[in-house]
Parts: sequence; C-alpha cells; structure tokens
Amino acid sequence: MNDCVFCKIINGEIPSTKVYEDDKVLAFNDINPIAPIHILVVPKQHLDSFMDLEDEELLVHIHKIIKQIAKEKEMDEKGFRVLTNIGEDGGQAVKHLHFHILGGTKLPTR
Ligand code: AMP
Ligand code: ZN
Repeated sequence: MNDCVFCKIINGEIPSTKVYEDDKVLAFNDINPIAPIHILVVPKQHLDSFMDLEDEELLVHIHKIIKQIAKEKEMDEKGFRVLTNIGEDGGQAVKHLHFHILGGTKLPTR
C-alpha cells in the first residue's frame, strides 16, 4: 500500500507528532484536530479498516495502548471518546485502520 498516507507516516516518509510507538502500533497527533486532544492509533500492519481486523492479540493490544495514552494524557478520570470510521458511509477518509482518541474537553453528544 505505497500510496497510503498512514503507511508513509509509519515508514517515516511523512512526518508526524509521535505520541507512542512499539513494534505493532503507532500513535500520533491528528493533523486537523477536532478536540484539544486528538490522537490517532494505527496498527503498523496495513489493514483497510476495522472490518479487516481479525488478529485478536492486536485488538487487545490496541485497547491496552488506548487506555495507556488516556491515562498519560490524564483523560481517564473525566472521560474521552474512541472511534473508528469504517468505509464511505462511515466517513473513513484514510483507508488504513485507525482509532481516534478524542478528549480534553466536554465532547458534543451528537
Ligand atoms: P477518518 O476520516 O476517520 O479516515 O480520519 C482520518 C484522519 O486522519 C483525519 O482526522 C485527518 O485529519 C487525519 N490525517 C490525515 N492526514 C494526516 C497526517 N498526515 N497526519 C496526521 N493526521 C492526518
Ligand atoms: Zn496503510
């Protein structure tokens, strides 16, 4: 997937503001934040969307990392939002699985 923007970020071809990295996942600040804290968590393996995530270990790992980031950013007490857009109707602009972590403010409910 050499035209994938998130693969390029993972490969270091496009810069990002890194929040967390290990051998399986990368987390970085969203370039166009819609909340005071807006972080994207992406698997290093290219998967088009949530629908292609079959690796349970990876899913559990992503869950763990999201919780870790929420604690580091001190969002765990007040709350935050995790979302992943899927496909055209879901509004997925980048076709590389990513989880948005949104917080740092009271988020609109709809
Ligand atoms: P989605 O609509 O769920 O596919 O979200 C894609 C997200 O990726 C958007 O919030 C964009 O602002 C973000 N984005 C796109 N390009 C970059 C980039 N180069 N660095 C950081 N975030 C990006
Ligand atoms: Zn990709």
